[in-house]
Parts: sequence; structure tokens; C-alpha cells
Amino acid sequence: MAEQCGSQDSDCGSFEKGDTEDHTLERLRLAAEARLTQGVYEVEVSYGGEADLHREKGRCGKNPGHKNFIPSPQFSLTHLPAGFQDKQLLETIGLCAQLTVRLVVNYTSMSRPEFLPNSKSAYPFSRFRGKTVPYRFGSGWLFDAFPRGVLGEGKGGECPCSECGQSGKPSSAWYELMFLTALHVVFDSEESKATDVELFYDSDVDRDSTVLKLAGGCVEMADIETDGCLLVCWTHDLDLGDKLQALSRQRWDLMREINMRYTREERGGLVVVVSHPHGCSKQVTVGWAVDRSDWTGLEVYRYSADTCPGSSGAGMWPVGWADPDFSILPHSKGVSKGVNECSPGVVVVD
Ligand SMILES: [Zn+2]
Ligand SMILES: [Zn+2]
Repeated sequence: MAEQCGSQDSDCGSFEKGDTEDHTLERLRLAAEARLTQGVYEVEVSYGGEADLHREKGRCGKNPGHKNFIPSPQFSLTHLPAGFQDKQLLETIGLCAQLTVRLVVNYTSMSRPEFLPNSKSAYPFSRFRGKTVPYRFGSGWLFDAFPRGVLGEGKGGECPCSECGQSGKPSSAWYELMFLTALHVVFDSEESKATDVELFYDSDVDRDSTVLKLAGGCVEMADIETDGCLLVCWTHDLDLGDKLQALSRQRWDLMREINMRYTREERGGLVVVVSHPHGCSKQVTVGWAVDRSDWTGLEVYRYSADTCPGSSGAGMWPVGWADPDFSILPHSKGVSKGVNECSPGVVVVD
């Protein structure tokens, strides 16, 4: 990614000719400046790609040391509070983690508005409209996977993925993958087309052999008021589609059981977040719901589970929510010290 830097964007400076300490510091300064333009939202930004993400993580001002962030492969019963050390709950968190994705957004849409709705505050990253840098990093999760084409309800058609579009021999069977995230992470289809959706980034060890990268498809539902975004991708890798569909359905089934087992409390219920803080590997944080409010019939939670830049769009599960069928919402913002807030999401109807 760094090669594009400087050659395509005048804001970026010339970093391609050797990476001196001065260049690194300048990139981090620009990234800090860009991060500030999003206000309370929690996207990570970088002018220098992957290497700078680890530097940003090391310099984190929100949660220095990240002691409450547990790498998802190491998350165990002992990380759950007393009263919640339940194997089935742990299994469900593991499924949520497997379905969590890192989103790498390489373009900022001209359609981002200047201001947030009903506000004089700038809409996140509006000053970067039309630019390829800074690169933005957020989180999302698979809502569901649906077989399409000859696999889906007897209908025909051609796989819409870019690979099939270029091959001249499009596949007649594919899966449509629906991901949820926050709208300020991926604003519209212009941005989703320039987005990498990365599955299975669980650890930095053997990363290249484990991470599966999908091209972003289109934004199917966008709600600027709620900050919810439904992002659709396509794959004609039917084994992957089968696997994701099975994991997704198993997650919803188990989640329903767990939600009914742990009745919702008005305040103080367990909250689990799985995200890619600083655009680095997947981490689990747990905390408590500290507030719940109504937003035109939808629920908004505030919680103490830690989040960092890069956590925007991550799945936030308030365990024991009254609606057992739809119980994950996209993390949206850090409101104040130790208090984070989700988006009320989008209403998805298959
Ligand atoms: Zn951090
Ligand atoms: Zn295809």
C-alpha cells in the first residue's frame, strides 16, 4: 500500500524513497490528525499500511497496554466474569469471533456529507472525499450467507464477483455474504468496491496462510441516522460459502439459547465485543451494559467493554437481550472514558 503513497495524493508526502524515522513520525502525525477529524468515532487510519498499525497500537492513548483485550484464539472461560463462565457462552463467542472481519477501506467517497445529520460536527473523513489515502481500518461481522444462482431457489444468473466479471466464464453458483458494520466505516458502494473484507485474521502468526481476503461488493442498506451499514460480498468458493453459512446459523441458534438463559437486565448485563483494534489481529473484550436507551423504537446500548480505533463496526453482543433473534449491533463510538456506544443497526429482512 505504501507505494501508492505520495504518487497519488498530495496530502500524503513522499514516503516511498526509504523509510526514515522522520518519515515514520510524519506519517503518524498525519494519521493522528486524520483520526481527530472523526470526533468520537473509532476508525483506525494509516498513511503507511500494516507496519504503522502496530506502531499506532503501541502508542494507543485510549487503552495503553490493551490489558483487557484478549486475542481471540486465547479467549477462555477464565476471561468471563463469575456467573457467566458457561461453556456454551464461550462457544458462541468463539463463533462470533470466527465471523468477525477486518475491513480495509482504500477510498473515501465523494458522497460523504460535510456534516453529521442534524449537527454542525463534521461527518467522519469528509475532508478526505475523493482520496485514496489515508487507508481506513474498521471491523464488521457476517450476518448471514445465502446460496444464489442455481443453488438458490431454482434461479439462474451469474456470480456478480469481480473475478467472474473479468473471467468471461462466470460461475452459475455462488454465495451472497451479508456483513454488518458502521456506515462511517464503509459509506456507500463507491467505498465498498475499494474495500477488502478479511476473514480469519485471528493472529499475526501465519497470517498470510490463514487470512482470507474477499473483495467488497456493494452497500445494500445504509442508514445515516443510525450509522448502520449492510455490506454484501459474493464468493463462488462454495466450500467457503457452505462453511460460513453453517457457522452463521450455528451462531444464531446458540445465541438464541444463551439470550434466553441470561435474562436481560435493565442495567448491568454482560457485553461482549469482538473487533480488530488498530486494524491489528482480532481481540475479544468483555464489560457491562451501563445504559440502554430507545432511539425511535430501536435500542442503543452504552457499555464498558473496551474498544479502540479500528473497533468501529465491530459486533457488540449484549448477552440476554430480549429479542433473541437479532442481538448483535455495530459498535459506533467512544462516548467518554470507559463508556462506548453502539449503533441501533439496520433492520434486515431476508
Ligand atoms: Zn488501543
Ligand atoms: Zn464469482
